[in-house]
Amino acid sequence: MGKLTGFLDYARELPEARKPAERIKDWKEYNLQMPEEKLREQGARCMDCGTPFCHTGATMKGLAVGCPVYNLIPEWNDLVYRGLWKEALERLHKTNNFPEFTGRVCPAPCEGSCVLGIIEPPVTIKSIERAIIDRGWKEGWVVPNPPKTRTGRRVAVVGSGPAGLACADQLNKAGHTVTVYERADRIGGLLMYGIPNMKLDKAIVQRRVDLMAEEGVEFVAGCEVGVEIPAQALKEDFDSVVLCCGATNARNLPIEGRTLQGVHFAMEYLHANTQHLLDNYFKNGNPPISAADKDVVVIGGGDTGTDCVGTSMRHGCRSITQLEIMPRPPDHRAADNPWPEWPKVYRLDYGQEEAKQVFGDDPREYLVTAKRFIGDDKGQVSGIEIVNIEWEKDENGRFSPQEVAGTQRTIPAQLVLLAMGFLGPESTVLDQLQLEKDPRSNVKAEHGRFTTNVEGVFAAGDMRRGQSLIVWAINEGRGAAREVDRYLMGRTQLP
Ligand SMILES: Cc1cc2nc3c(=O)[nH]c(=O)nc-3n(C[C@H](O)[C@H](O)[C@H](O)COP(=O)(O)OP(=O)(O)OC[C@H]3O[C@@H](n4cnc5c(N)ncnc54)[C@H](O)[C@@H]3O)c2cc1C
Ligand code: SF4
Repeated sequence: MGKLTGFLDYARELPEARKPAERIKDWKEYNLQMPEEKLREQGARCMDCGTPFCHTGATMKGLAVGCPVYNLIPEWNDLVYRGLWKEALERLHKTNNFPEFTGRVCPAPCEGSCVLGIIEPPVTIKSIERAIIDRGWKEGWVVPNPPKTRTGRRVAVVGSGPAGLACADQLNKAGHTVTVYERADRIGGLLMYGIPNMKLDKAIVQRRVDLMAEEGVEFVAGCEVGVEIPAQALKEDFDSVVLCCGATNARNLPIEGRTLQGVHFAMEYLHANTQHLLDNYFKNGNPPISAADKDVVVIGGGDTGTDCVGTSMRHGCRSITQLEIMPRPPDHRAADNPWPEWPKVYRLDYGQEEAKQVFGDDPREYLVTAKRFIGDDKGQVSGIEIVNIEWEKDENGRFSPQEVAGTQRTIPAQLVLLAMGFLGPESTVLDQLQLEKDPRSNVKAEHGRFTTNVEGVFAAGDMRRGQSLIVWAINEGRGAAREVDRYLMGRTQLP
């Protein structure tokens, strides 16, 4: 531990973010880096508490407690405090293949379970993580490191999101020959085409993909397994197959008017926007689905909804409303949500902060549901009928939403974005390989083993777990790689 009294001497600080009014004019990342001196002070706040919960990676009440990849947080906090950045990077890479992604977009369950957080604001772990890896790239410490020998075993990874990439990276390190198949035209899964550029610059994703390619991983983009290549053929051509296809089945809202023009799934909007940005940097005008000069309504209050809000702000929407069926979370931890659980508290995320700055208020309306979409005579959506709800307990103790009489009203909307979560993976590959599903329609495979009911076929990430977090996808990709290595070699040294 570097500084005994660090947590008494320094207050928690976060890196500055670009001002909302300025950043909505472009697609550049909104978070800035902290000066080195400040970062070292923040590292010094780590108490080296002896029983650190920050890296436990447990699950409590269905939510992560501590870091799911078991990052060696107290160790690198201390190394950063002492200015030993290269050593900190070595520690970080031991547990996390892609800290430049998690250091930007992880919700940081580690901070929610930081022991200092019991009495003071927690250590700024995520910002320190990002600073270590950004410094590593800047100093030229992150270089291709291909394996010295090859095993002669060939593995196909289907899907190039964080689970597929982590799996491919680990298997390649173990000397296997890995081919990653991706149906999109660019590699990265939701890192590339889900999370918008202002949160995670796509050059940062591409830089890591390029490094992996230099280390020997083969990437095949624009190839949908199950369509371009039958899944069975892949199984025959490779020694093992790892499915990391994500949970891409979006939850629909099949109410009156759903087929009107202007009602889209969030992912149609976000994917098209990033593709437009990367293909021509908005030089050819707006993307195919644009929020410019429109009243936009986002249905769903989670991360995906926030990204729709941030994207609409950059298109120049006329107004924005975000409908959330759940109540507004409390400002501070509720009594039934104690440390070290993930704190379920009110947060003004980047998109809502931008909307508040421009339109004067947080765009979220809580305890509201949509009843029907209203169209004009050209079949284009023009408004939504909404109503307030209350959650009432039935005789079986189950809560269900009940409409509040007299609260029905219509709000204008020429663009509606459905961001209500995901219902598991698509069925093509599952059907072709006759894979069993769990009761939530994900691929049935136990966490830690990742084996499916078909020999030699493994599953990891959102496809196995359901829509989750980047850091869990990395955990699963690493775990699946370890089990594939064991399957191919009879033993494994992968963590
Ligand atoms: C809009 C949005 C924002 C998010 N923001 C955050 C965030 O800020 N922080 C965070 O931690 N998590 C976030 N998440 C969740 C996170 O992105 C996912 O949990 C994570 O990407 C899952 O990784 P994965 O590798 O399992 O799947 P994915 O990233 O979904 O990748 C799966 C890939 O498989 C490909 N694929 C599917 N079927 C086939 C096939 N048959 N053949 C070839 N390729 C195929 C898909 O095209 C896709 O590229 C967000 C999710 C969304 C939707
Ligand atoms: S990956 Fe996420 S949970 Fe783990 S240390 Fe980084 S920010 Fe925290």
